[in-house]
Amino acid sequence: LRKAVIAGNWKMNKNRKEAKALIEEMKPLVAGADCGVVICVPYTNLETALQATEGTNIKVGAENCHWAKSGAFTGEISADMLTEMGVEYVVIGHSERRQYFGETDATVNQRVRAALDAGLNVILCVGELLEQREQGITEEVCGMQTKVALGGVSKEELKKIIIAYEPVWAIGTGKTATAQQANEVNHYIRTVVGGLYGQDAADAMTIQYGGSMNAGNAEELLAQPDVDGGLIGGASLKAADFSVIVKAA
Ligand code: 13P
Repeated sequence: LRKAVIAGNWKMNKNRKEAKALIEEMKPLVAGADCGVVICVPYTNLETALQATEGTNIKVGAENCHWAKSGAFTGEISADMLTEMGVEYVVIGHSERRQYFGETDATVNQRVRAALDAGLNVILCVGELLEQREQGITEEVCGMQTKVALGGVSKEELKKIIIAYEPVWAIGTGKTATAQQANEVNHYIRTVVGGLYGQDAADAMTIQYGGSMNAGNAEELLAQPDVDGGLIGGASLKAADFSVIVKAA
């Protein structure tokens, strides 16, 4: 029905030498995986990662991209620059971008549009803050983030988008959503996608969970019917742990 994808998000970790070593260690451990395997790495590691993964089942992604094709945007990287290198995926709207770098639903949407126009596959992150969960507005928040981010995206283009539900309170905290909490919100997001694009599109969409997923809890989370893989931070920096998660998918 739909494919599970396990994606690593390295965040701001690993220099080139460390990146190469991690990928070399990872390659044999994830070869022949049933799920899709993606590593999203810092811009400075993209070339290294593309070379090291050539001819393997590991796809390479960036962690962000700008919405313009080029121009006076100091410090930014365009989607076209990524595709030109051979990069196939990009993470958009990660909560760390929203929290620390002023990313809004509107700029997330612009970046999604630019990534699709450049032919990239998008891992679109949504998720509520702890206070929003406590206020009982998790669904409203995730639903709104999803709707705005997908503005102007056609049903055909939707096939290139993976949504990652990442509750902010579970990221890097060691506090994982329970399997039931993850499944509930993933299911809700699928309902939102169904309302926008129809049930067939919603059923075909890969919706990941992210937030302290690790070798110990991955199996239970990934066994949920609406959890189609994971976006992995800390545990993606260790080949052994990452490969256990890949095998659980
Ligand atoms: P952790 O797995 O380190 O909690 O990070 C999750 C995440 O933010 C992935 O994008």
